[in-house]
Amino acid sequence: MLLASFLPRGERGRHGRLGVVLAGVPEQLLLDASSVSGLPATMSDLLDNWDAHFPRLLAAVEEISRKQPAGGSEALLWPLSDVTLLPPVPRPTKIVCMGFNYAEHLEEGETFAASNFPTAFLRSATCLRPHGARVPIPAPTSQFDYEVELAVVVGREGKYIPEERAMEHVAGYTVFLDLSARDIQLPEMKQGMLLLGKNLDGTAPCGPWLVTADEIPDPHGLGIRCRVNGEERQASNTSHLIFKIPKLVSYWSQMRLEPGDIIATGTPAGVAAFRKPDPTPFYLKPGDVVEAEVERVGVLRVEIGERERW
Ligand code: MG
Repeated sequence: MLLASFLPRGERGRHGRLGVVLAGVPEQLLLDASSVSGLPATMSDLLDNWDAHFPRLLAAVEEISRKQPAGGSEALLWPLSDVTLLPPVPRPTKIVCMGFNYAEHLEEGETFAASNFPTAFLRSATCLRPHGARVPIPAPTSQFDYEVELAVVVGREGKYIPEERAMEHVAGYTVFLDLSARDIQLPEMKQGMLLLGKNLDGTAPCGPWLVTADEIPDPHGLGIRCRVNGEERQASNTSHLIFKIPKLVSYWSQMRLEPGDIIATGTPAGVAAFRKPDPTPFYLKPGDVVEAEVERVGVLRVEIGERERW
């Protein structure tokens, strides 16, 4: 099932409504779960009570899809083109972003050594932007870089989760674009920390939707690529992840994972920063269109806007 957070045009709100993207109809339609009594109204309502809500949602979608072609459904259906998508989880309590988690990206980074445990940084929820957003270049950077990533969305709370039970805590997957200010990030890392270079406003587009885990039995065999203005910059497969998803969920559960928490699993090779001999032409510019794609999950598309001013 494809789950989205959305707002009907003109409506405002931080959390949006919960929608289900219906396939097999001429135009992609969004079932407004918030309009159906007994169904969760928002993504966080769903994730907070996943075990009770998800089967109910499945049953409702099945029934509505059966009625839909002939009409007669009481549920509110929106053409996808008539709504504004939000990030699938608009306000997660944590976004954990893996550092070097593809060997090829580690190799292109050269000065960075392999770690025998997962390494990551935290992002703030204010970084999130939806599919279709225009992301301005933040004022303090002139080295704005792209990183496509597969992201895991947590569906069940847990702490000290054993690896063999980790997948029971995964609600689904989405696409994550870890936009990075390299000229802030790399000096920060030399000082042994990383915050601003990965937390400038709007630098974490995510979406377009969440694909539930039942649709993707093996998340470790998915093509992953990033295009800038149609030119392929990154192309790999999630089979190359160094630390696999059960390990990541188990490891980061030491902090306690909550429903809606996001774990971005890291990016493959091909980022601008490590291009030889000169990375400059590869950094993002106003007007660039970035498409981050994970097979079976979706294509997250954003446009880069003008540089912001202080
Ligand atoms: Mg990254």
